[in-house]
Amino acid sequence: MKYVYSAQQERHAPETFLLRGAPAPSPEGPVRAALLSRGIAEFGGCLDAPDATGTPRLRERLMRIHTSRYLNFLETIHARWQALPGAAERVAPNVHPTGGGHHYPEHPVGQAGWHLHDMACPIGADSFAGILASAASAEAAAEAVVNGDDAAYALCRPPGHHAGPERAGGFCFLNNSALAASVLRERFARVAIVDVDLHHGNGTQDIFYARGDVWTGSLHADPSGFYPFFWGSADERGEGEGLGANLNIPLSIGSNGIVFLDALERLLTNMQAFAPQAVVVALGLDAHKDDPLAGLSLETADFTQVGARLAALDLPCVLVQEGGYPTASLEHNLAAFLRGFTAT
Ligand SMILES: [Zn+2]
Repeated sequence: MKYVYSAQQERHAPETFLLRGAPAPSPEGPVRAALLSRGIAEFGGCLDAPDATGTPRLRERLMRIHTSRYLNFLETIHARWQALPGAAERVAPNVHPTGGGHHYPEHPVGQAGWHLHDMACPIGADSFAGILASAASAEAAAEAVVNGDDAAYALCRPPGHHAGPERAGGFCFLNNSALAASVLRERFARVAIVDVDLHHGNGTQDIFYARGDVWTGSLHADPSGFYPFFWGSADERGEGEGLGANLNIPLSIGSNGIVFLDALERLLTNMQAFAPQAVVVALGLDAHKDDPLAGLSLETADFTQVGARLAALDLPCVLVQEGGYPTASLEHNLAAFLRGFTAT
């Protein structure tokens, strides 16, 4: 199996985010990639480096899942922000169109509020290069599967599954899992995304909500009491051509591996009715009991079972790293998943 990581991702290195109104050290930093790389080494995998800016087709592929003005915003906002008198080093919004805005603003402060949904997405001078390198890693892994590999893993940070068509949130800017699915669609008519991250994949859901060619399913801590709060309930089933092609299974806060694996079984049973030809796994590892974002209580060994169950689908598969934050167990959780995924 191919393992993909671009070291250019380190150029996005946010120092803080806003937690309960107070600045707190960001858990989403380059150290995550170092820990996850150790997990791959523990398992016995070897990382490949894609071109940090992706293939010549990357922009066109991103425009299938994000709006043009959002991509332009990500690329240009830091320089425009710095031109404002008294601007902070990193872009951070202080006004949002809560309840919906009527027009798209020209001013950098207005655009930051339009596109940056929460306070976990500060943009520094080199952030865009890092964000693009993360997307390029997902693109390279998906291309490997399109070109005939059975499976490939992309070490992506920043993660992506909270990023919608034109919204960053929850440490996410470009939706790497959605990009991988979009690349898989170039060969496979029906693609599924299975999101096992602790949090609901609200950005992925938004991108494909009205589409019938990409099935989306997510297991996550119940959003009535957990981030992302406003999406992820079981009654969100898609709309139009996508009606029935989205499935959410919210789990009670603190649920263990037995509950998680049972829910995964139900999710995959539902997915089989869609008859996918390839699958993307949005591979969050933050459902572990020690994760600082503290929502579920999986043990390291549970990830081996999650990996084995997903491998049993016997479908071409792109594994895209989503959440999972620095703890003593993060690297072992990835190695455990990979052991299960590759055991057959
Ligand atoms: Zn997460």
